[in-house]
Amino acid sequence: MKVLKFGGTSVGSAERIQRLTQIVPSREPVIVVLSAMAGVTNQLVDSAAMVAMQETPKAVELLKQVEKKHKETCNELFRTSEFKMKGKELIRKMFNKAIDMVLAPNVPTNIEKEILALGELSSTALFHLCLQEQQVPSALIPALGFMRIDKDEEPDLFYITESLNRLLDACSGINIIITQGFICRNAKGHVDNLKRGGSDYSAAIIGNAIDANEVQIWTDIDGFHNNDPRYVSGTSPIRELSFDEAAELAYFGAKILHPSTIHPCREKGIPVLLKNTLNPTDPGTRITSSYRANGIRAVASKDGITAIRIKSLRMLMAYGFLKRVFDVFAQQKTAVDLITTSEVAITLTIDDTSNLPKITDALREFSSVEVSVNHSIICIVGEFVAEKPGIASQVLNAIKHIPIGLISYGGSSHNISILVSSTHKQAALMALQTVVSTEITIEQH
Ligand code: ADP
Ligand code: ASP
Ligand code: MG
Repeated sequence: MKVLKFGGTSVGSAERIQRLTQIVPSREPVIVVLSAMAGVTNQLVDSAAMVAMQETPKAVELLKQVEKKHKETCNELFRTSEFKMKGKELIRKMFNKAIDMVLAPNVPTNIEKEILALGELSSTALFHLCLQEQQVPSALIPALGFMRIDKDEEPDLFYITESLNRLLDACSGINIIITQGFICRNAKGHVDNLKRGGSDYSAAIIGNAIDANEVQIWTDIDGFHNNDPRYVSGTSPIRELSFDEAAELAYFGAKILHPSTIHPCREKGIPVLLKNTLNPTDPGTRITSSYRANGIRAVASKDGITAIRIKSLRMLMAYGFLKRVFDVFAQQKTAVDLITTSEVAITLTIDDTSNLPKITDALREFSSVEVSVNHSIICIVGEFVAEKPGIASQVLNAIKHIPIGLISYGGSSHNISILVSSTHKQAALMALQTVVSTEITIEQH
C-alpha cells in the first residue's frame, strides 16, 4: 500500500482538488493524507492568537472568513447543487462547533489546537465529497481516531499501528482511504498537532504503521532542489538522495520536508518520493537508503539560531566539564544543533530559546556565558570524506568573503555546517550555488 500526501498548494483551490482526483490512483490501495488549503492554517493561527488575547469578536470574524472560503470552494468544486449543499453544510457544522467553543463561558484550554484542526478537517471532507460526487469509492478515516502523541510529544507508534489497522480493516474493499495530516490527539486525549508543516510527518508515521511500500509527498515543486529556491535562482532538482542526506537537509531548514519525516520511513526502509502536483509526470526526487556519493550535493539553511559561548571558570577541558554543560541542556529539554570546542571555550547553537534564561542561569554557576542571536545555520551536504580532501576547501573558498561564526565539520562524513549572521545568509546560499551547480554540471555530462 502507498501513502500519498498532498500539501496546502495541492489542495489550494477547487481546480487543484479536482486535479487530485486524476493523480490519486483508484485501482490500487492508497492512503491519501491531506493538508489544509494553502493559507488556511496561517489564518487559523491568527484567529487562535486573537482568542488568546481575548479579542473574541475578531477571532470569530476571521473564522467566518475561513468558513466562507471553503463554502466558495464548494460552489466551484461540485457539479450538482445537491453536493454543493452537502459540502457547505459539512463546513458550516464544523465551523459552528469551533465558534461555539470560542464563545463558551469556559473556553477549552486547548482551543488553539481545536481551531488549527479545522483546516485539515475541512480539506479532507471536501475531497471525500468530491470523490463521492464522481462515484469513485473512498473512505474518510479520522486522524483523531488513530494519530496520537505521548507525553513527550513523540508519536505513540504502538497505539497508532493498532488503531489505524483496525480502522483500515473496517474499510476493506475500498481502495482510496483519505485522512488528515498534521492533527492528532495528545496523551490526555485532547486535540493536538504535529507542529507546522507536520502533514509530511503524518504521512511518514502512517507509512511506518502500515508497512507501506512507498510514501509520496506531493507539493508545488519538482522535488528536492540543490539549494533553497526561495533565496537562490537557478537551483535544480536532485533525482536521488539518501535518507541521511535528506534528514540533514530537512533538519537544517529545507522547507520541502518536515524534519521528522525521514526517521519513520528509514526505520522500515520505505522509499520517500517527492513529486510535483503541478507537473505530475516529472520524476521528482527519490529518497532511499542507498547512498550515491557525489561531491557537493545540496545546501539548506535554518534561521532563528542563538549561539552560546561557554567558558569554564577553571580549566576548560577539566574532566567532567562537558558533562556538566550538556546536563544543563538535557534538564531544560533543549536540543543543541552545532558545537565546537577550543582549549578556552565551547560555542554551541540552539534554536529553541524558550528555556534560555534557565539555561544561562545554570551555566553561570560554573562558567562565563555569552549569548548572541539572529544567526543562521548553513548546512552543506556532500561527500566530505578524508579520501576526497578538496571538497571541504571548495565550500570554504566559495564563502571566503562571508564572516563565519562557527564551522562544524567531521560530525558526519556528509555534512558541513556553518554559522553566519542572518544578514549574510542569502549571500552565503548564493555563493555556495556556484559549487553545487558545478557538481550538477559534471553529473550531467
Ligand atoms: P506543502 O504545502 O506542499 O507542504 P511547502 O511549502 O511546505 O509545501 O514546501 C514546498 C516549498 O519548499 C517549495 O515551494 C520551496 O519554496 C520550498 N523549498 C525550500 N527548500 C527547498 C528545496 N531544497 N527544494 C525544494 N523546495 C524547497
Ligand atoms: N496545515 C499545516 C501547516 O500549514 C500542516 C501542513 O501543511 O503540513 O502547517
Ligand atoms: Mg510542507
